Amino acid sequence: MNAEIYRFKVGTFESMAVSDGTHAYPDPATLLFANAPKGHLEQALREHNLQLEQWVQWVSPYTCLVINTGRHQVLVDTGAGDLAPSTGNLLQNLQAEGIEPGDIDTVILTHGHPDHIGGNTDSEGKPAFPNARYVMWKDEWDFWTSAPSLAELKVDEHLKQLLLTFAHNNLPPIQGQLDLVDHETEILPGVHAVAAPGHTPGHMALAISSASEQLLYISDAVLYPIHLDYPDWYAAVDFAPDQVVTTRRQIFERAAAEKALVLAFHFPFPGLGHVIQKGRGWQWQPIETTG
Ligand SMILES: [Zn+2]
Repeated sequence: MNAEIYRFKVGTFESMAVSDGTHAYPDPATLLFANAPKGHLEQALREHNLQLEQWVQWVSPYTCLVINTGRHQVLVDTGAGDLAPSTGNLLQNLQAEGIEPGDIDTVILTHGHPDHIGGNTDSEGKPAFPNARYVMWKDEWDFWTSAPSLAELKVDEHLKQLLLTFAHNNLPPIQGQLDLVDHETEILPGVHAVAAPGHTPGHMALAISSASEQLLYISDAVLYPIHLDYPDWYAAVDFAPDQVVTTRRQIFERAAAEKALVLAFHFPFPGLGHVIQKGRGWQWQPIETTG
């Protein structure tokens, strides 16, 4: 069994969580919980078997999604490409499952960060999925293609430059195959765009439904399971913190009420689980996987 692929079904849709690899982030507490009071954070981390002082690195999974609806072969997010030696495994993992880049007819990009658009293009800078229409939220495309200053972000200059470089290299080449959405529409039968702004200006989630089953692909609305317990704790990379908190609450409420299966891009592989109501907040319950 390939540990980088997890197959599951959403109604009649054959689905796969596909790993693009992992990436190690230093000083995760500052990155993930930018506004958390220290004492409170220490307690929250202890509940998740982590010690604040000893938590020096977060090795984050990057998990993309493939959906075969029967009529469409859909890829959601393209991974980080050559961001690090430990990323860029998406194509290889797809090919191991018999899926060639030319087989993908729809690529949905949830937002313009490096780990979600880094696999848009091949080594020559051409679209890596030659037969696909690429779909993105219009505000997101407009933001990253307008050379933004990123002055609002509480991250260092190196990371800002990385964000801008990836957007510059990986967005303009797909323009000829691009389809922008600006409202909550059905991208294709059974795949709905859900506005989830805050992490970035036009961050998009997806509601995928078939035969009365539902998957919510929430991408980076949350980055770490503790964000369900403490939805007000935003990350340093979150563009609009107030909006992040509002978006999270809406998504958690929906996921819990509809008992939807949820896929979170940065959660432990395969990133699938359920959102459980707990007191006035929520809790992450990962699915049980075998093997
Ligand atoms: Zn991400």
